[in-house]
Amino acid sequence: MMTDERKARLPLGKRAILLGLVFALVLAGLIIWQFLGRERKYELTAFAMGSYVQQTVWGREPETAVVEAVQGIEELEREISWRRDGDVARVNSQSGGEPVALSDSVGELLAEMVELCERSSGALDITLGPVMGLWDFANEPRLPEAGELAERMALVGWQEVELTGDSLSLGREGMSLDLGAIGKGAACDMALDEYSRSQVQAAVVAVGGSVGLYGHKPGGGDWQVGVRDPEGSGSLGVLSLPGGFVSTSGSYEKYFEQDGKKYHHILDPRTGYPAESGLVSVTVWCPPGMDVKYPGALSDGLATACFVLGLEDGMELLESYGAEGIFITEGGDITITEGLEGRFTLGEGG
Ligand code: ADP
Ligand code: MG
Repeated sequence: MMTDERKARLPLGKRAILLGLVFALVLAGLIIWQFLGRERKYELTAFAMGSYVQQTVWGREPETAVVEAVQGIEELEREISWRRDGDVARVNSQSGGEPVALSDSVGELLAEMVELCERSSGALDITLGPVMGLWDFANEPRLPEAGELAERMALVGWQEVELTGDSLSLGREGMSLDLGAIGKGAACDMALDEYSRSQVQAAVVAVGGSVGLYGHKPGGGDWQVGVRDPEGSGSLGVLSLPGGFVSTSGSYEKYFEQDGKKYHHILDPRTGYPAESGLVSVTVWCPPGMDVKYPGALSDGLATACFVLGLEDGMELLESYGAEGIFITEGGDITITEGLEGRFTLGEGG
């Protein structure tokens, strides 16, 4: 009897230790769970910068991250839209006068964009404001008269943007900045900045024709980005990319017809008329790791610049930046740069 009792007691002690261990483990698990949180996926579509802002975010508190990204984009819009009351609006209202002090991020963004104006030989010109106002693509578009267009063209010239440190002035009264060509890409930069500040694991943000890819795609493999078919509403093909920023500029985006002719919203700054480079769309990829602060804005600006430059000069410009692209001609020919070989698949719906 005595021996039997002793035998029964020993396992009981072990059981108690085991129970204690399990309890401690569960507690530790709960603490870690609380600390790290569970990664979730969250999607939100908002409206800013005159277009939809679509976000898919994986992270611990994705709801907070997407809301803060939208706020960041709204603040950026306020600073860089000529329609609002921020930096760019002040620069425009003081053209020909005293320099305007810019907020840090806007100064750096504009410095990179002025460099792109120069390197694209003015195919991108951020001072097209007076001429864009005349065409008025967003409201009541119309074909301007040659005389009034010439008058406004005299007020265009990125060379007269004087940017010293963080203050900017426009050389002559009546000049104005229009950052429509880079705003959506810059908005993607803004969203990715926000993701890196929050505990976001991975994310995709699309603002109009620009897309930003953050982190590694959950589940592994490349991100898939659809390239719109200039002829239809679907996608022409799919890009498989590890990250970075993608922007598309196309003549089908915004246009009107007058006397049987189509006029689209990407202007050739040399003429003031819609660019006729033989292209219908250009998609640009700025891969991760480029040595710029605003790779999203750069992809957007490059797409517009390449659209104006045409296939050959456009390819050269992309190469000088280490960016890649897809050029589609009016005849439907598709040319891709070397770095996208094996990354573009035609015809997959996306
Ligand atoms: P979207 O606005 O459809 O995304 P883009 O990125 O190509 O298309 O930008 C077109 C806008 O950029 C126009 O609405 C106008 O505000 C501005 N823009 C048009 N042509 C030029 C140009 N050559 N250089 C700089 N900005 C331009
Ligand atoms: Mg653009």
